[in-house]
Amino acid sequence: MLVANAHSLEQHMTSTSPPHSESPNATSCGGLPPKECSQNTDRTSLIGLDRACFESALVKLGERSYRAKQIWHWLYYQGARTFDEMTTLPKSLRTRLSSSCNIDRPTVNRMQQSEDGALKWLVQFADEREVECVHIPEEDRGALCISSQVGCTLTCRFCHTGTQKLVRNLDAGEIVNQVLIARDTIGEWPSPKDGRMISNIVMMGMGEPLYNFDNVARALRIIMDGEGISLSRRRITLSTAGVVPLIERCGRELGVNLAVSLHAVDDELRNQIVPINKKYPIADLLEACRRYPSGRNSRRITFEYVMLKGVNDSDSDARALVRLLDGVPAKVNLIPFNAWPGAPYQCSSNNRMHSFADIINDGGYSAPIRVPRGRDILAACGQLKSDSEQVKRNHTGLS
Ligand code: SF4
Repeated sequence: MLVANAHSLEQHMTSTSPPHSESPNATSCGGLPPKECSQNTDRTSLIGLDRACFESALVKLGERSYRAKQIWHWLYYQGARTFDEMTTLPKSLRTRLSSSCNIDRPTVNRMQQSEDGALKWLVQFADEREVECVHIPEEDRGALCISSQVGCTLTCRFCHTGTQKLVRNLDAGEIVNQVLIARDTIGEWPSPKDGRMISNIVMMGMGEPLYNFDNVARALRIIMDGEGISLSRRRITLSTAGVVPLIERCGRELGVNLAVSLHAVDDELRNQIVPINKKYPIADLLEACRRYPSGRNSRRITFEYVMLKGVNDSDSDARALVRLLDGVPAKVNLIPFNAWPGAPYQCSSNNRMHSFADIINDGGYSAPIRVPRGRDILAACGQLKSDSEQVKRNHTGLS
């Protein structure tokens, strides 16, 4: 059982998608029939194809290219889940598409709602691998936190996901489908112009998105497409543990907001808490942040800093953080540590967190202390972990 106090809302047993044949880091097909357009399954999966691949897949089926635009609109603007709903298409075409193309959602194995309104979905793909995604609602908006990998190669010590080995990358369709599922639940179809409850997307779920860059990029382009979901790049944040060589590419190709999991101010400690630091130390990471394009365009980079009692929360740590951020348009998010079973840390006290925040504020940087959300359903920051792994561990007595 994932959580004791969770409100189990309902079980959505939707049909499953066929396996995607795309390699984990496949690039855009550039308009040619791509590998995923001609997969070995009997139906072509359309969700997750970029515009060129999408059109190519339709042309390959003998359709005129303008049909691609219509179907794209139905899928990503209207939220259609079957071809039958696409009433602007001739009936014969709908029938043909139903037998040759697949637009099914993955299965939602469980949906839980926190006492504070946060929603968490456990999404299962065709190969039975699972990820979690979380919606954090505010009064008139909300952020959807989505996953990019099943498990994670990195082993950040404060993170529950980091205790689960990487199983595989998600493909673009699996990433986009998390958004579609959340919008189905929240009832956000057709794409509203204003007043969206999924107003922001954060790539902060399971996995390191820059280690699955091509699929993440393709998915985000679909999410940003103005004729579909149409979410502005300014409302999308990609969070990285610090894959320095890809930070610049992320800014140049996607231009989304950047968040960096910093969590320590010297290499010795960060090597322990965020081990990727051994490969890309703090100085290199901060230099990449200084060069990040959106940073120069007055959008601030968010530095995530989890507050670990007696580990990284002293006044001198706070002062060192202010010095580190010199020259970076930055904001610091102070995250109270969210414990999970077997976690090696405790959360700093309230007083300690406020003293830490005061020093950062005095140094000229905003440093809100995040209010934990969804703790009762293990949906808070650093707590995500797919159920299959938990079940396996429970059986082996590890947690
Ligand atoms: S914090 Fe992110 S990068 Fe680090 S282990 Fe967790 S999921 Fe992976």
